[in-house]
Amino acid sequence: MLFGSQILCKGETGPTVAELQLRLAGFRGTCWDGVYGPGTELQVITFQRDYMKMDNPTGIVAEDTFEALDRFAQEFVIDFSALACPECQCQGFGKNRFRHQYIHGKPKIEQFHKCEYPGVHKAILHTYRAAQFYAKQMGLSLPIISSGYRCWIYNDKKQRSTTNHLGKALDIDFPLKAGEDKRDDCRRCDSFRGILVEKCNFQLGWGANNMKSLEPANIAPSWIHLDVRCYEPKYLADKYFVTTAAQLDTHLTHG
Ligand SMILES: [Zn+2]
Ligand SMILES: [Zn+2]
Repeated sequence: MLFGSQILCKGETGPTVAELQLRLAGFRGTCWDGVYGPGTELQVITFQRDYMKMDNPTGIVAEDTFEALDRFAQEFVIDFSALACPECQCQGFGKNRFRHQYIHGKPKIEQFHKCEYPGVHKAILHTYRAAQFYAKQMGLSLPIISSGYRCWIYNDKKQRSTTNHLGKALDIDFPLKAGEDKRDDCRRCDSFRGILVEKCNFQLGWGANNMKSLEPANIAPSWIHLDVRCYEPKYLADKYFVTTAAQLDTHLTHG
């Protein structure tokens, strides 16, 4: 497999670069367009500085950085059983229904797109890994998945009409410690949202295109909702959605 066998640096293009951009979606982050520009260089520098603890980050992906990416993926494991749709007959990740269908009476935009995407988006999952890393670095416990995929069978059962958790979103949370109450939970979620904005380049809300979004505290007070709903359709192509850990880390360089 190509990923991990060639040096990558600014100016490079192609699918290996796109995979790199997805892997580093939580380290600042940019579009996974396969073009190694300044945004990608910043992702690499951030990963090298924060995760690899390099004093002089190079912004170039050579063997040491590929190995670190591999280590990073193995260190922050994603529990796909926690991601799967709860209590329903969709096998966990929808039935690929409602493509290009929108909530009745609403504008035809991604916010109202009813599509059951075929899995959870790679960028959200790799970003969740970065969130775990930054939480650990701050001395917090690792955030857990509190809600992943929710298909329309489940939505209907719960009388929900949001399209958010059809593969583009993830809710994470920090379990309460002994003696803590909900206010502590809300405070911690709020301060961690700040970290996600600063370190991972999230926006609060959905103002800008092609950025990762966080639900503001008035919508998600005691949990943290991450999504990729503001990306253009080409960044939401089926190939970016996965249902297993093996699919997520397809290009891992196992030695
Ligand atoms: Zn379901
Ligand atoms: Zn959510």
